Amino acid sequence: MLKRVVNQVEQRPVARDKQATARRESIEIAGVHVKAGTRQSIDIPLPSFYTHSSASIPIHVVHGRQPGPCLLVSAALHGDELNGVEIVRRLLAHKQIDKIKGTLIAIPVVNVFGFVSKSRYLPDRRDLNRSFPGSETGSLAARLANIIMTEVIPHCTHIIDLHTGAVHRENLPQIRAMLSDAPVTEGMARAFGVPVILNSELLEGTFRMAASNHDIPVLLYEGGEALRFDEFAIRAGLNGVLRVMSHLDMRRKSRKTSPVNCLIANASQWLRAQQSGILRSLVATGTQVEEGDVLAYINDPLGENSEQLISPVSGIVIGKTNLPLVFEGEAIFNIARYEAADEISDHIEAYQEEHHPLTDNSDSDEPPLV
Ligand SMILES: [Zn+2]
Repeated sequence: MLKRVVNQVEQRPVARDKQATARRESIEIAGVHVKAGTRQSIDIPLPSFYTHSSASIPIHVVHGRQPGPCLLVSAALHGDELNGVEIVRRLLAHKQIDKIKGTLIAIPVVNVFGFVSKSRYLPDRRDLNRSFPGSETGSLAARLANIIMTEVIPHCTHIIDLHTGAVHRENLPQIRAMLSDAPVTEGMARAFGVPVILNSELLEGTFRMAASNHDIPVLLYEGGEALRFDEFAIRAGLNGVLRVMSHLDMRRKSRKTSPVNCLIANASQWLRAQQSGILRSLVATGTQVEEGDVLAYINDPLGENSEQLISPVSGIVIGKTNLPLVFEGEAIFNIARYEAADEISDHIEAYQEEHHPLTDNSDSDEPPLV
């Protein structure tokens, strides 16, 4: 059993609301009580490093004065996926966060051990996102998963889990969620506002599966590449979280929040290298492609034996490798299949413009990361 030593940060009051009704109960996480109308950082203790240095999961709780949903926004379940960490930082600095109804629990770094070693995995080489719901006596990954499931999940009514593509692999901002017979999840997914939603099944051992077993709707956001900050994916992710908070009535709807046309794809397909070689990619993420289009060439270093990489389907490129050195069999492009792909490609263009630092007309005062 872990000793629950908690570093408390002084409670800060959040904005007073004259219409506040009966006093809300405080929320308790890892033995720390956060009073209604305050916000607080909490460290949830983890097994220590073998250096004897202590380890903990940093959490910030904004417990609004008025009742409402309890939204968890988590990031870096895969320790090398960094965009979500910056999305959480911007979310907590957002000027409206002090005024929310309900509760926001933000965890910028779930997989603290992977984050320290800049790795997707835990030191025991397990994938935390295949180790849920975990157990108190299992592997390090299982114990970490269990801490999230016992300390945090019982409070949550909705979850947004922030991810990126793998190392050298970039994803177009997209939502993955299981939408069949899940109107609440679908409402959140549409509210998030990305043009591309992938209706995807739940895998055993994932955080999504564990939360769904508790009937908590979960969105998984994917955007950008591991070990990199991507300003577009960060802006899109932050905007999406804020839009979902408006949809859940946790914050006022912004007048600038225009509805985004999104299409739901039920399948995506990886296009793999037919031969090893140097890859010359011709399409970016977000590009609409037709069956039979040439998406890339692969040649040897002398420029001989050049082969075309041809799209087997029509759809939108939602993921691609950024490393031009490929082995035969390597996944190069992920294509979401759409019957009406041309309908969505205009929306993607408008969306990219909306979240580009030069054309973004939101009132963000965050300087763009370059
Ligand atoms: Zn991930």
